[in-house]
Amino acid sequence: MTLNAPTSSGKGEGPAVERALAYAREHREQNLEDLRRLLRQPSVAAQDLGMEDCARLVAAMMEEVGLKAEVVPLAGGHPVVYGELDAGAARTLAFYNHYDVQPPEPLDEWESDPFSAAVRDGMIYARGVADNKGNLVARLKAIQAWLEGEGRLPVNVKLVVEGEEEIGSVHLHDFVHHHGGRLRDARGVVWESGSRDARGRPVISFGCKGILYVELVARGANQDLHSSQAAIVENPAWRLVAALNNLKDLRTDRCLIDGFYDDVRPPTERELDLLRRYPLEEAEMLRHWGISRFIGGLTGLDLALKLFYEPTCTICGLVSGYTGPGSKTVLPRAARAKLDFRLVPDQRAGDVLEKLRRHLARRGFGDIEIRLLGPEDPGQTPADDPLIEVVAESARETYRTEPVIRPRMAGTGPMYLFNRDLGLPTVSGAGIGYHGSLVHAPNEHCRVEDYHLGVEHVIRLLDRFARVEAPPRRPREGALP
Ligand SMILES: [Zn+2]
Repeated sequence: MTLNAPTSSGKGEGPAVERALAYAREHREQNLEDLRRLLRQPSVAAQDLGMEDCARLVAAMMEEVGLKAEVVPLAGGHPVVYGELDAGAARTLAFYNHYDVQPPEPLDEWESDPFSAAVRDGMIYARGVADNKGNLVARLKAIQAWLEGEGRLPVNVKLVVEGEEEIGSVHLHDFVHHHGGRLRDARGVVWESGSRDARGRPVISFGCKGILYVELVARGANQDLHSSQAAIVENPAWRLVAALNNLKDLRTDRCLIDGFYDDVRPPTERELDLLRRYPLEEAEMLRHWGISRFIGGLTGLDLALKLFYEPTCTICGLVSGYTGPGSKTVLPRAARAKLDFRLVPDQRAGDVLEKLRRHLARRGFGDIEIRLLGPEDPGQTPADDPLIEVVAESARETYRTEPVIRPRMAGTGPMYLFNRDLGLPTVSGAGIGYHGSLVHAPNEHCRVEDYHLGVEHVIRLLDRFARVEAPPRRPREGALP
């Protein structure tokens, strides 16, 4: 990718971006207060706590910085807040964020109220500050800095802010299906997440794994029985264990479901190259988790490939019968297991679910109930897309260090709705968290300085995106409604 020559200054920053940056630096205090305003509004999707109020607050904050905002209701779900500004620019960039947060429990482990947005020792503590309200407000503040400091935005912007990311983006596909046309002009999507690693390097990625989450239920008698009846009555716990034994080979760590790996796409040369350049912090991970080795003793590129390019088959929970103190001689009536499968391109959650069903039925376990708890497909942006370098170069300028660029995250998000279904390149990495942010855990926090730098990163990113040579569009045929 090549950038057009900067218009002046020779530092890659023209006077326009300097004026936007100066505005943000002069308004750091106000920017922090506005973040705290959003953090004080609870928005726990899983508990349906404060969701409508938070959606309205996000819309109001969008309007305050100069965007046109709309709370878009979704039948049976929490609304999406959509904001846009047509700046009359040649290009349009979209942003994806979420206003919902994880439940704050356990509350007694918090050193300050999770919705008080306490600032101490250069940190700001609140549920959702790093995931994902800080990133959202940093983007709004970057837009405001351009509009107030320079009087214009270098690109048109469109913001999609959903309220169900932390519960699996249950209704986001409805929004994309019915309103995806609003993103028709966009040339890319800047993803919600982004944080700095232990060495201070921003981590950039442009894909993520999908997930299939199921519960398996084996049933026996219509009630728990005295365990002496085990001589004549089948035990659902043993049946479940036998069924699970058919799903994974522990010697190879491979999933045994027929056809499970059929659609796994191997890494490209460029993706392999990126994985080689940014190895995992192996010693640190082993020490941090208190283990002596990774599965198969893998290291280096092999380990990275396994983490990012292999799908998984994981027992997340397993329960049956009596598990309290002491002994209780019981033949349980049922046994349950929760499993997740982290999926990679081009696997599809629905297809893997069918394969699981057939696999168990063929082996005599057709009676075991399979409950679908959460499907999301994997998503991947091509490694040569110019948006990746736009995010990386603006990160280099902001953080004065070389970012880590990984083809994909090992985790899951609804990226596929944008990069596969709408054909829009999707890149994460403009965020304000750091490796110690305690995302999803008690005392979630971020460094105040990282928040302000996050605003500056997005200011530069908007400038670079306006000046990058026209990125190719890869719209999927008939993708846009
Ligand atoms: Zn999260």
